Amino acid sequence: MNRYAVFGQPIAHSLSPRIHAAFGTQLGIALDYRAIETGRETFASKLDAFFRDGGLGANITLPLKQNAMALCSPLSERALRCGSVNTLTREGNGWRGDSTDGVGLLRDLARHGIDARGARVLLLGAGGAARAAAFALRETGAQELMIANRTPARAQELVDALDAGARALAWNALGRETPFDLVINATAAGHGDDALDLPSGPIAAATVCYDLSYGKVAQSFLVRAVASGATRVIDGLGMLVEQAAESFALWHRRRPDTAPVHAMLRSEEG
Ligand code: NAP
Repeated sequence: MNRYAVFGQPIAHSLSPRIHAAFGTQLGIALDYRAIETGRETFASKLDAFFRDGGLGANITLPLKQNAMALCSPLSERALRCGSVNTLTREGNGWRGDSTDGVGLLRDLARHGIDARGARVLLLGAGGAARAAAFALRETGAQELMIANRTPARAQELVDALDAGARALAWNALGRETPFDLVINATAAGHGDDALDLPSGPIAAATVCYDLSYGKVAQSFLVRAVASGATRVIDGLGMLVEQAAESFALWHRRRPDTAPVHAMLRSEEG
């Protein structure tokens, strides 16, 4: 059986094994996709053991996406730009590293009928997923991209790597901003106890608010967005499915239909 896995910590609740199993069933491709729990210290050895056992591809999630970069050669251009890797494909004696987060976000926005072309966008965060989102948004034609991050230097670093249409914004200046067309939360704030400290200035009724995370983790930002007047709030479950479809296509050279998998996961949310 062709072996695939997702590595991360915590990983027990990862939806990736179910998503890839559903894609495989849909396209008649037999595969064994497992979740492998590992922190940073044991990641390299566990990945090596997976390779020796014949592993063909892996997804990488928190907190290992940066570590994975160092273990891949070659790296795709988009992985180099985001400074993180979420998809490993066996190549020769090692792993080719790629990032499917950016395209996953764009596909999900499109699925929701959201066109970022010409839009004024606020991006919160400057980690791996935010970097992937930023490059994808600029490529797709977002007109103005403002980036705010808890650690301001990382937002500036990302802006410097982008083109002239992007600008860093101090977090404490967010309250003075007028409403954006689209606000994207790409911070990991919801994973911890501290709620996202976000003023209401950037959000109005017409602002689409999108959180890259989903489930309980997304609530901190999405509840805040609704309280600020937003009428359209979206979590990142769809992005999860879309970035998985892109990994699947890299590995199997066939693209699954994501709609039934979205529907399956939403119906199970209760
Ligand atoms: P990461 O590289 O670790 O970056 C974390 C980011 O969150 C940094 O910008 C960090 O700011 C910020 N942050 C953390 N805690 C914060 C807090 N309490 N308040 C404000 N900012 C905070 O993580 P990542 O890989 O980019 O992931 C970010 C989020 O996107 C996670 O929730 C992840 O689950 C989600 N994600 C979803 C998908 C999907 O397919 N749906 C794909 C990828 C990622 P500092 O720079 O100051 O540390």
